[in-house]
Amino acid sequence: MVHVQLKKDHIRLIRDELTLHAPNEACGVFIGRHQRDSIIVDIVVPIKNSIPSDRSFELDPKEHYEAWNRADEERLDIVGVYHTHPHSKASPSAWDEQSMKNYQTLWVIAGIDGVRGYEWDGCVKQIEINEVP
Ligand SMILES: [Zn+2]
Repeated sequence: MVHVQLKKDHIRLIRDELTLHAPNEACGVFIGRHQRDSIIVDIVVPIKNSIPSDRSFELDPKEHYEAWNRADEERLDIVGVYHTHPHSKASPSAWDEQSMKNYQTLWVIAGIDGVRGYEWDGCVKQIEINEVP
């Protein structure tokens, strides 16, 4: 069972992003590292949704590339992606499931009912989020 470790401030930032960009979805990536069965998130990088929509998102390619460079500079990795559901629950939509198959990493969704983590492993599996100070 994989866990993801997110700081309280990270979760606050993602929730703020949900409000800030509503009614459209907001998105971004996590910079961090893998440690045994945990994914440790060190930095949350909001990225422009290059196709603003209330049903899907697309990471702006330029900002996504800059995030990769930043991870490299910090000697860390891009360990996941997040996006928001301003109108629905924090569960993957059909569109998300398709995207999860194509981009297999940690997926965090902030919805009206909270923040949850998922991965694609033959099907959608939930990843437990450990909130740390
Ligand atoms: Zn979604």
